Amino acid sequence: MPFVFDFDHSHRRPPMELKDLLGGKGANLAEMTSVLRLPVPHGFTITTDACRAYMEGGWPEGLSGEVKRARVRLERKMGKHLGDPVDPLLVSVRSGAKFSMPGMMDTVLNLGLNDDSVQGLAKQTDDERFAYDSYRRFVSMYGRIVLDIPGEAFDTLLDEAKERSGSTTDADVPVGQLQALVFAYKQIIRDHTGADFPQHPDAQLQGAIEAVFGSWNGPRAIAYRDHEGISHDLGTAVNVQAMVFGNRDDRSGTGVGFTRDPATGAKGEYGDFLVNAQGEDVVAGIRNTEPLSALKEKFPKIHAELMAIFVRLERHYRDMCDTEFTIEQGKLWMLQTRVGKRTGRAALRMAVEMTTDPGIRLTRGEAVQRVTAEHLDQVLHPQFAGTGHAVLTKGLGASPGAAVGRVYLTADDAAAAAGRGEHVILVRTETSPEDVHGMLASEGILTARGGLVSHAAVVARGWGKPAVVGAEQVRITGRSFTVGATVVNEGDWISIDGTAGEVALGQVELVEAKASEEFETLLGWADVIRKGHLKVRANADNGPDAANGRRMGAEGIGLCRTEHMFIAEDRLPIVRRMILAKDTEAENAALEELRVAQRADFIEILKAMDGLPVTVRLLDPPLHEFLPDTGELAIKEATVGLTAEEQALFDAAKQWHEYNPMLGTRGVRLGVIKPGLYAMQVRALMEAAVERVADGGKPVIEIMIPLTVTREELALARSWVEAAVTATLASSPRATRRRLEVLIGTMIETPRAALRADEIAEVADFFSFGTNDLTQMTFGFSRDDVEGRMMSAYLEKGLLKHNPFETVDADGVGELVRLGVSRGRATRPTLKIGVCGEHGGDPASITIFADAGCDYVSCSPFRVPIARLSAAQVVLARAAQPASGAKKRAPARKAPVRKAVAKKRPPAPKAPVRKAAAKKRAPAAAKRAPSRKAPARAAAASKKRAAGGAKKRAAGGTRVASPRRVARSRAR
Ligand code: PEP
Ligand code: MG
Repeated sequence: MPFVFDFDHSHRRPPMELKDLLGGKGANLAEMTSVLRLPVPHGFTITTDACRAYMEGGWPEGLSGEVKRARVRLERKMGKHLGDPVDPLLVSVRSGAKFSMPGMMDTVLNLGLNDDSVQGLAKQTDDERFAYDSYRRFVSMYGRIVLDIPGEAFDTLLDEAKERSGSTTDADVPVGQLQALVFAYKQIIRDHTGADFPQHPDAQLQGAIEAVFGSWNGPRAIAYRDHEGISHDLGTAVNVQAMVFGNRDDRSGTGVGFTRDPATGAKGEYGDFLVNAQGEDVVAGIRNTEPLSALKEKFPKIHAELMAIFVRLERHYRDMCDTEFTIEQGKLWMLQTRVGKRTGRAALRMAVEMTTDPGIRLTRGEAVQRVTAEHLDQVLHPQFAGTGHAVLTKGLGASPGAAVGRVYLTADDAAAAAGRGEHVILVRTETSPEDVHGMLASEGILTARGGLVSHAAVVARGWGKPAVVGAEQVRITGRSFTVGATVVNEGDWISIDGTAGEVALGQVELVEAKASEEFETLLGWADVIRKGHLKVRANADNGPDAANGRRMGAEGIGLCRTEHMFIAEDRLPIVRRMILAKDTEAENAALEELRVAQRADFIEILKAMDGLPVTVRLLDPPLHEFLPDTGELAIKEATVGLTAEEQALFDAAKQWHEYNPMLGTRGVRLGVIKPGLYAMQVRALMEAAVERVADGGKPVIEIMIPLTVTREELALARSWVEAAVTATLASSPRATRRRLEVLIGTMIETPRAALRADEIAEVADFFSFGTNDLTQMTFGFSRDDVEGRMMSAYLEKGLLKHNPFETVDADGVGELVRLGVSRGRATRPTLKIGVCGEHGGDPASITIFADAGCDYVSCSPFRVPIARLSAAQVVLARAAQPASGAKKRAPARKAPVRKAVAKKRPPAPKAPVRKAAAKKRAPAAAKRAPSRKAPARAAAASKKRAAGGAKKRAAGGTRVASPRRVARSRAR
């Protein structure tokens, strides 16, 4: 297979489908040239195969010959030669990976200029200034990008030349100064490398190609791929293309155009251009640009031609395209196109509108596939709560959503402050790819310069971070910025609205965004597509969250963590009384108080989810989490002394201390040593259900036992639950009992439970995979610790492809899920199975769960729309798979794995409890085990829970920790 293809090569398949080989840019250049026959300057693409070969073993054999032959063909087509002293050809050398990585890799422009050809260019163009300006740009670019010389070395000289000549812009620097700059730049190269600037075009070309290959593994590119989840193995293609010049004169220019508005999705062209400028000037945001409507006034014919091209591109790609174009002395050239990046709001609008666009006619399925989880995340971003805030200044609303944070003025400072847990707004004059880490760490971005397609705008939009760009009144000096007389110092709070382009001082109150009409439409289509496949529930622990989950489209609650009801300020003292109780009477009294409180909570939840299943998990975390921090009490004891109550709590905290609480007295184990607790919870729940029925409601109840590892354990817990159900319903009317359906099931959170799922299914009506704990226990990774400390190192070194707490580990944890599903269903074919770990809202994990045969996923309310979309996309992807692909899918309810086991132990299908319970007697109360020894970290845990609500994803990935997990699930 050749390493080099000309743009006009006639490929067997449409070139736009060859992105693996040609990269996105190369594939689209070939599509525009060989299929659409648009005015594209000739060129050739060096494939990603060549880059991969280069990364493995250096410059590939045969590549030089292929590049040389392609160069000769290009020279023939253009009627010019690289380095020609009379009429030189100049080329650009640009990266082009399969997936767009804007600004993350290197580009070299004006290649082919040398001491001779610059004269030829001057003569041909009759413009010596233009020729030397191009040459000085090339030498400095080559020095920076190919020879790794710091850019400031060149920039300082340019600034001095400007000052000397009294020029305000680069375009005003006179030719004499430019010649002197070229001379000085070459000297810089000699000083830094010990060699002369290469004059021969072949050497220049090889250097530039190698630099582009190398930039694939540059820190910016790696950071970007990590963030975007792009594989590091793909490599980049390199495009060598004849240069056209937008900086020739005032009949020239350059611009970036979108076929629709990428921020709102509105129909009609959108973009920026600059007269007498090169492409990089637009993207870098160095000069403020003009909108495309100004192009219509200045170059009406070109504008009409461009609009006709936009229409053809949209119809051909059946999507919104973005383009780069250059006008050279009145002639339009298309330099690039691709399916354009867009905001979430725009993605939804375009997807829905394109279903009725006669030139495009997307199917609803295609529309659903056009929207990503990130898009939905963006439309769920917060906005300013009202209009009462004073606007300090305005810029362009470049990326929607509002953000509040403290001002930091360099990317490093922003990243460091975010690392300390601060909310940050990065304020820059303009951003460049060097700022990416600071942008990533920030809540929002504000720039003083740049247009809607500047680096800051494009990157922020891609990530869904609010951004205001081109706020021209902002002047940055050192560690502060000013707007008129107002000084804003580093560390001061500001708020930005990336939709309206507003900047305000202080912390403006935010509200969650309201989803658009298209949001509802598209998710409605997704629901139709996934009907009969994967259901989506919400994890919610109180009425408002449950109601929110339902609004977001949840089809029930998959996990109600009842411990959250115990943490509220008014409940904690009661829980503590229960723990400290000296005798059964005192314990029962405390439990009774808790029952009343929980009952009220359950009523609210059941009301919000009326008619839909609500899975209530009985208490899971170790009791010491409800006790105060031993460290704090120890200090107090040693200094001012403790009150009697504090002393009792301190003793209890020490007594309940466990060295490894996540593997200690939690889950059903807690039930075993405090059985009154689970009975109380079930009674509270059933009383709430009875009340709901009395009020005309339809409660659908699933009671879930956490952390079971053996059949016997679950059978015992089941007996308490059944007894409590029976006892509670005994006094309710028969009609109520008949209307109450109760299922009893368990979480599958340990490898043992997954492996012995066949036995456990004998006493379970349903399973719910707790993939947070299952991940923790399968990897032996503490969910409290490893993400902060070692996850980023593991990801950087490639020891893990993803953070397994974010995307479920398909091969290990995923295999346990598959096993658990098939073994469980081998015993009980109708076993209902869900997933309620954080992975339930992660698109990649959802595919794995759907393939395993799960019936539903459950996630935090704000992730419900994402799960609905992802579940539909799984169905669409399956439908598109060739027949053999079907093999991969687990046959949902039939999997006859471990037949022998199934035969040996005939299923003991449980009637829904209401019937069974009515016949059974109260359970044999399990004996209370002697309590464990030692202290705890409890109030701290509850404080952390509260504080953690605001916590977002840490740089290293998501964090799923016992107290913190709660808050995080809310935050998501
Ligand atoms: C889990 O372990 O996946 C789960 C949902 O339970 P928790 O996060 O509350 O431990
Ligand atoms: Mg768990």
